[in-house]
Amino acid sequence: MIRLNEVDEAVRIDGEWLGRKLQFFPSRDHRTWFALAGVDVENPAAPSTLQIHLHFSNNTTHDLTQTIEIHPAHYRTGVLTVSPKFVEPDPDELKQIAADSEIKAKVFATSAAEPLWSGSFRAPVHSPPTDSFGTRRTFNGKLASIHKGMDFRAPLGTVVRAGNSGAVVLARPLYYEGNCVVIDHGLGLYTLSMHFSRIDVHEGQHVSAGDPLGLSGATGRVTGPHLHWAVRWQNAYLDPAKLLRLNLSSVR
Ligand SMILES: [Zn+2]
Repeated sequence: MIRLNEVDEAVRIDGEWLGRKLQFFPSRDHRTWFALAGVDVENPAAPSTLQIHLHFSNNTTHDLTQTIEIHPAHYRTGVLTVSPKFVEPDPDELKQIAADSEIKAKVFATSAAEPLWSGSFRAPVHSPPTDSFGTRRTFNGKLASIHKGMDFRAPLGTVVRAGNSGAVVLARPLYYEGNCVVIDHGLGLYTLSMHFSRIDVHEGQHVSAGDPLGLSGATGRVTGPHLHWAVRWQNAYLDPAKLLRLNLSSVR
């Protein structure tokens, strides 16, 4: 969360960080402006430059620049065994994977132009999360990948809830994700829930924080029933634990 205090004369504030566009929104009294932003799990640890542009009603602009250090995180490594079709998909399966990619690209290209969330984000299930974000994993001794979300231990059929209010922009089965629900929270911020046994929402539906989205399961590339929950901001995958720790109750 980036916060700018005492900028009540600004009519618009935007900026750039790590090659991504920052879109600020004002508090109700217009004196404080906020932007949610984060560092992708694959971003190298190095100093970065944050640029902010304040636009005023007389068409002048004031630029702010700040250096932000990105420190290394320490991630675990893991070895997993899944069905071979998730490591070496056949031509038909590759076609489905390509079609899924197109659907996802469309979904992530159009986020609402204002925040759709309100208050702090909450965990999608009551069961405990694992510290699985960022884990470097090898599937079947062949495929190396980075785990870009947080796994929750959830027995089959656990009700999965919306982490905050937003629009359901994807609610359908995908090859790797299984039955998947994506919520757009606005300004490029999404939460993704995967591997459902049943989806109870439809694309285009508006949900409030805590609304049921479906039941957890073991569909897609899994080793067993659990909930995979991911936070995406623009094209970056962020640590969900960090979003859940943010106190946003006074922000909007
Ligand atoms: Zn996962």
